[in-house]
Amino acid sequence: MEKQIEHFLDEEENQYSLRPQELSEFIGQEKNKEKLRIHIEAAGQRNQALEHVLLVGPPGLGKTTLAKIISNEMSSGFKSAVGPSMIKIELATILTNLAEGDVFFIDEIHRMQPQIQETLYPAMEDYKLDLPVGQGPSADIIPVPLSRFTLIGATTREGLLAAPFRDRFGIRIHLDYYTVEELKIAILQNSEKMNVEVEDNAQFEIGLRSRGTMRIAKNLLFNVRDYASVKYDGVVTKDIALEALNFFQIDELGLDEQDRDYLRALIDKFDGRAGLKSLAVAISEDERTVEEVYEPYLIKIGFISFTPTGRVATDRAYNHLGYKNQTLLEL
Ligand code: ADP
Repeated sequence: MEKQIEHFLDEEENQYSLRPQELSEFIGQEKNKEKLRIHIEAAGQRNQALEHVLLVGPPGLGKTTLAKIISNEMSSGFKSAVGPSMIKIELATILTNLAEGDVFFIDEIHRMQPQIQETLYPAMEDYKLDLPVGQGPSADIIPVPLSRFTLIGATTREGLLAAPFRDRFGIRIHLDYYTVEELKIAILQNSEKMNVEVEDNAQFEIGLRSRGTMRIAKNLLFNVRDYASVKYDGVVTKDIALEALNFFQIDELGLDEQDRDYLRALIDKFDGRAGLKSLAVAISEDERTVEEVYEPYLIKIGFISFTPTGRVATDRAYNHLGYKNQTLLEL
């Protein structure tokens, strides 16, 4: 089963307008916000488009939200596309329709085809699109001028971008996981917008299990809210939050059943050490999801580490799953 954390909030988001619209509403990431404020103000003073921006970080930390905020703060138009499915004609159509100062957001930019990345080079650097006219080697290249726009790329894997491409982004922002305090603020704000009472220590318990990720905090809040309104009177106390989280099989570290399947497969099937391919097959998941969704958090909490011979489960992972006396580690 695919681990679903991408974009499943959209409907609910719209219903309660939960997505922050301005930098001042975007919680945490203080240094990054300050950096962006300065660049946005400087671009405004010069009356120029903002430099191209690369947003880097695991899923659910706010890359798409921040791209929209940048466009709002610049009072500019916003167009978006998804890297892997982009074809040349789509790119050319979007680029030639951008107005001066518009933001063009490309999600999962590391998964864009290399030839399409290359089409972007002159567009990013000289604001022109080299359009081939005719076929084969005798085709003429006609440079089409473009408006000065801002490309915002979002990536979970900065290392997969070709260096010349990465270097064309003047502003690079690395988003960090959120603290429990920051997640609590988001949980409180969202519960207020949804008119649900969530007690302070319940906010804390939900924040604690949100894996440092805003999207997960919101998902858990929605789940707990549903549980509290069906089983109780709707108010989310600490006990009800814990009961609900337990019901949804979210443990005290925020790991769900699929994370535990990953760890169990690593430990039980491979004695705690396995390559990506074998692991992905063992849990019927695609390799990219394993690398980009499961593993970053397991690394962050010290449950796995990468070695030349594969992923290795650490003592902490063994202990968390209740395994004792594991001896294969640190060999
Ligand atoms: P990404 O593009 O990195 O996967 P999104 O921008 O889609 O993440 O954010 C996931 C969810 O979390 C959205 O509902 C968004 O509104 C919310 N969110 C993300 N970052 C923040 C933040 N710093 N403050 C408040 N809400 C946030």
